[in-house]
Amino acid sequence: MSGYEYISEQKIKVGENAAGEAIEVTKLVIKGGDSAAKKVYIQASMHASEIQGNAVILVLLKYFKNKQPLGDITIIPQCNPIGRDMLIGAGHQGRFDSTNGDNWNRYYFKPDINYHDFAKTHLKSDMKVYKQALREVLYQQIDQALANQYMLSRAKRLNYTMQKHALEADIILDLHTDTHSIDYLYSPAYAKNSAEKFGFEHVFLIENKCNGALDEAGFYPWWSLQRAFGELGRKEVVGVESFTLELGSEELINSQKAQMQALRILNYLAHHKVVQPYSDSSNALSSRVTFHNEDNFKALHALYGGLYEWFIAPGDVIKKDQLVGRCLKMSSQTAISISFPFNGLVISINAKGALQQGSHLLNVVL
Ligand SMILES: [Zn+2]
Repeated sequence: MSGYEYISEQKIKVGENAAGEAIEVTKLVIKGGDSAAKKVYIQASMHASEIQGNAVILVLLKYFKNKQPLGDITIIPQCNPIGRDMLIGAGHQGRFDSTNGDNWNRYYFKPDINYHDFAKTHLKSDMKVYKQALREVLYQQIDQALANQYMLSRAKRLNYTMQKHALEADIILDLHTDTHSIDYLYSPAYAKNSAEKFGFEHVFLIENKCNGALDEAGFYPWWSLQRAFGELGRKEVVGVESFTLELGSEELINSQKAQMQALRILNYLAHHKVVQPYSDSSNALSSRVTFHNEDNFKALHALYGGLYEWFIAPGDVIKKDQLVGRCLKMSSQTAISISFPFNGLVISINAKGALQQGSHLLNVVL
């Protein structure tokens, strides 16, 4: 127990190990002081090597213990206990299930809903009523998918289970990291103004799609419904905001940086009146927020197999034909200079050392 009457802790079963014992995650619920306030769901480490979000959660918990939030906040730290304990040498298998290559963040459930019909039925319903009605459909469909047990891979079972715990939330925050990276944010395009409150220097705006990531699965039904209402002449806001926060580099805890990242989250939550107005965050916020179209976010791959050295760091702006690295090709005893035929901003360095042709090298914004 937490020792705080408004904070409770619960174990959620997400699988069974080879001894038949339960594999569990810990779910923390911080009851808000105002039942009308927005509800929040936060999880960290679905990609198990991406651990920084847990440090951020500790800072947030300290804040909530000091000051009860207005809205209910559900937190699942280290939400992937299967991946968490799947180590190869010094590091995690990381983003993938080692048995079949499933990306742990690609199997969230996409509901099958006729949004036009739903909007027609609820054309006159107030927001509270239609939100509850849509949630009921979502619960029902996810329960049905979870009941179809022979079809559940480990990633599906884990994703659907987490998604169910996120369904009550009006705000969903999925805490990730990139490989070796700057901080950045994925935001649905409709939430652009709101996303600015996180104070991330770089924000990637995504369109309405549902390809299995939690942020998309979180906003897709609500954005689809808002559009369906629009087609029938009813102007509505999208009922849920859902983001992926990229909090730097994998396999790394930086407590000092976690303070700053938590302040960014609190600033956003204060904007939505989930916590009391918050004024301490200004130093943590980037003075300039740049929005990028997600299509300009590119993964670059290796032209050559060889031994890679980089002269650049995440956050660097690179110019066309600039020398950014070197590749040693021992088969021909040569060193090849690496440059790119375009300008760009380096978001993350994905790989270094001994690489095959086609390996994922960098993420850049063009
Ligand atoms: Zn991730």
